[in-house]
Amino acid sequence: MRITVLNGLKAGLNLRRLILLLAFSATLITFLNSYYSSYQVQKQQLIDKTLENHKAYAAKLVSATDNFLLAAQQQLAYVGKILENDFNNQGLINAEAERLRLQTNSFNSTIIVNKQGDILGVSPQSLKLKNRKVDSFGTKAALSYRTPMISEPYISMAGNLLIFISQPLFDKQGKFIGYVGGTLYLKRTSILNQLLQVHYYRDGSYLYVVDENHRLLYHPDTKRIGEQVFENPVIKAVLKGQAGTELLSNSKGVEMLAGFAPLTVAPWGVIAQRPLEDTLAPLDNLMWQVFIKTAPVGVITLILIWVLARKIASPLRQLAETANTLDRPTTTRELMLIRSWYFESNELRKAMLKGVGLLHSKIGLLRQEAQTDSLTGLHNRRSFDAQLSHFIAQRCPFAVLAIDIDHFKRVNDEFGHDIGDVVLQSLAKILLDVTRDSDVVARTGGEEFIVIMPRVEVKRAYQLAERLRMRISESYIDPVGCINVSIGISGWPIEQLNIDEVLKLADQALYQAKKTGRNRSVVNASYGQDFATISESPILE
Ligand code: GH3
Ligand code: MG
Ligand code: MG
Repeated sequence: MRITVLNGLKAGLNLRRLILLLAFSATLITFLNSYYSSYQVQKQQLIDKTLENHKAYAAKLVSATDNFLLAAQQQLAYVGKILENDFNNQGLINAEAERLRLQTNSFNSTIIVNKQGDILGVSPQSLKLKNRKVDSFGTKAALSYRTPMISEPYISMAGNLLIFISQPLFDKQGKFIGYVGGTLYLKRTSILNQLLQVHYYRDGSYLYVVDENHRLLYHPDTKRIGEQVFENPVIKAVLKGQAGTELLSNSKGVEMLAGFAPLTVAPWGVIAQRPLEDTLAPLDNLMWQVFIKTAPVGVITLILIWVLARKIASPLRQLAETANTLDRPTTTRELMLIRSWYFESNELRKAMLKGVGLLHSKIGLLRQEAQTDSLTGLHNRRSFDAQLSHFIAQRCPFAVLAIDIDHFKRVNDEFGHDIGDVVLQSLAKILLDVTRDSDVVARTGGEEFIVIMPRVEVKRAYQLAERLRMRISESYIDPVGCINVSIGISGWPIEQLNIDEVLKLADQALYQAKKTGRNRSVVNASYGQDFATISESPILE
């Protein structure tokens, strides 16, 4: 595991990381995109809904206020009707002024005025206006306009900010004789602001009313009532007679969702609005809930991607690592162990296995060719040296037979070189036939052979050499007939001698065999015994 990680690090960008990068980024982008777009959609929906609600609410309040003002004017007109026929009846005037205020509860105060501007009746009496002349903006305007009227806000003689609603009185000839009027206090409790107050403030929504001079007639912040607001697009729009919705910044720079509608009875506008932030607050919570709900699936998806990326990349990574070491003998086994579970990796693995098979058979062939004597198929000199090194490294004792054909020149001379080769091949076969599998039989020169016999003592080697020699001399090789060989014998280890010296001892013994008449086996004198005397070995029989 650790090695894999290190390899991965060394490789920098690898398939697994690329798959992870691709899949992770695709997943994250999809998740974020769906969060973002659902946020945007929901936000727009909330905004649209809030705007529509506020527009409808403003319209509803407009209609209620219109109805109230109409009703107020009708009440004034009705009182007017009663008084027009009996305008000199002071008792009736007093009673109507009182009834108008108390019975309908529409006005904070009521007033009945003759055409000279003398206040004939007033309610409540506590205002102490009776028999005085009208002196305020609204009461004076009613006198001069002589039409049904709703005044702008102004400060009354008694010091209240109010609006004044009035209805003119005419006698039977249609001559103006005075008017009846009522006030609505803007800063103190009145039926109008009670009507407008019926609104919930918990969700941050609020409502205000402006008149044609951009003056606030109603505002939840009573300190602001009477204030003029000019730089407000919604006020501008509603005073132009438009109804609608708008997203705007209010006077404090807070973004607001506003719905607005104009009155029909008075040149006023009603605006209902709510801070955008308050509107969107539940959305943040909703999105958080969505995130919490989708997070486990998201995490599981990422884990699955990670596992799958590993699974996809794993066979290819293993194949790539193995590709660097195709010449190793274990490669085929390693390739077989790779779990190539999908088409491409499986095809790659099959192709690599095929390639490795070809490579190994080629290597094997070359190795064999490099180690084999081409004429006889025996070990060549190089292979022989390698085998010797192996025995020495293993501290494995062995005997050496150095074999040379007697008078081979004559064979060549008499039968030709090709037949000579046939003789060499036949001799090789006999050598392989007589020796054990563990013995090493090599052709080290033209017609010279060496046999290494591991774990065989010199004495035993002599017996085997004799058996070999006899077998050769008895074998008929067509067309040459029988041939003889001489054999020199040595063994390793002997004293402190190295392997070359041991081989030399065998050569010396061979030379001795040739010198003493050929067709015989001679053990080098260094090995002490006269081995010629032990010819009665049972194996020779
Ligand atoms: P001796 O008994 O002293 O060994 O006599 P010999 O004639 O065998 O003499 P020697 O061993 O010196 O002769 C080697 C001869 O072997 C010389 C050469 O013609 C022959 N020879 C060497 N290599 C080959 C080969 O590959 N094929 C054939 N046909 N003959 C070879
Ligand atoms: Mg020779
Ligand atoms: Mg010879």
